[in-house]
Amino acid sequence: MFERRFLPIVVVFLVALLVLVVGLWASDRASYGNTVNQTASKSLASQQYHWKIVTTWPKNLPGLGSAAENFARFVSEMSDGRLTVTVYGAGEIVPAFEVFDAVSQGVAEVGHGASYYWKGKIPAAVFYTAVPFGMTAQEMNGWLHYGGGLELWRQLYAPFGVIPFAGGSTGVQMAGWFNRELKTAADLQGLKMRIPGLAGEVFNASGGTAVRIAGGEVYTSMQTGVIDAVEWVGPYNDRTLGLNQVADYYYYPGWHEPGAMLEFTVNKKAFDALPSDLQAIVRYATRAANQDMLDEFTARNNESLQSLLADGTQLRKLPDDVLKVLYDNAQTALASLTANDPMAQKIAHSYTAFANDVRAYHEISERAYLNVRDRVLPSVFPRP
Ligand code: CA
Repeated sequence: MFERRFLPIVVVFLVALLVLVVGLWASDRASYGNTVNQTASKSLASQQYHWKIVTTWPKNLPGLGSAAENFARFVSEMSDGRLTVTVYGAGEIVPAFEVFDAVSQGVAEVGHGASYYWKGKIPAAVFYTAVPFGMTAQEMNGWLHYGGGLELWRQLYAPFGVIPFAGGSTGVQMAGWFNRELKTAADLQGLKMRIPGLAGEVFNASGGTAVRIAGGEVYTSMQTGVIDAVEWVGPYNDRTLGLNQVADYYYYPGWHEPGAMLEFTVNKKAFDALPSDLQAIVRYATRAANQDMLDEFTARNNESLQSLLADGTQLRKLPDDVLKVLYDNAQTALASLTANDPMAQKIAHSYTAFANDVRAYHEISERAYLNVRDRVLPSVFPRP
């Protein structure tokens, strides 16, 4: 006979058994979950990714071309080879002016080039390379990374499934190579010049004809007389292309590209498919390559200029009346760019507000310091 006095003991025993069984089950589930998670993260951590970067530059071009090479190297080093990137110059997979579409369509995961090349498709993209008489490299970097510029750029490219990153700056460029001297603004009449972006429209409004030509073809275009003038970058990269062999007069300052910013474009689907640590590596690799380009141009421009001058290049400053005409037409071109484009208006507002603020401080910092330094040090070039 079951004795009633044993009932509480049996109940306690059954409850304890239940707790034990449930506990074991839960522990087994948890350990199964951990194993799954560990296996998943181990498989992500060991998964290899291979990307392609297509560029708008001729293969192995120093300066502009080094950004893509640096990006590939930085990414591979930081990821210990989990993400590798092969660099393709213009024309190897797609022509220079199809880089944006190639990244948008996933033909390549990354692109390197200049946003103003896509002006026909995205007019407001010109703000992210250069605005004539606009911000310098230092100011552009400030606007992009601390002034809201990059967020607006991401919005601008979002409909194309492309994420932009700053891709290096040349600093202030040269106004370009001319096969004849410019004495007054009237000398711009009828001049055919390779000059892209908003500056091309300014040049057209000033009496010239702007022509859109990729870097790989500018030398031949000058040599064969297709164009009379060409702006490319500055002494370091212009000498690499041999532009001193096809024009005698080298004009400054680069009113049209005072801090030309290049871009990395990343296919959003490819970026989203990376584990978060590789996404961070991509972000920081672009940031490092961005700064590196400015450093390289800063270090190399003067030695290249001295070498060009020694080889017979004639250095000239643009006459003030030429600059005045170009400035007036730049204001008209900007107004017409933003007239019917709400996104361009938004970006222009952000750009202009930042430029005005930073200019106020640079009056008493960068400019004040350079003025003072010029007073105490001997002049390098004859002052106009
Ligand atoms: Ca340029």
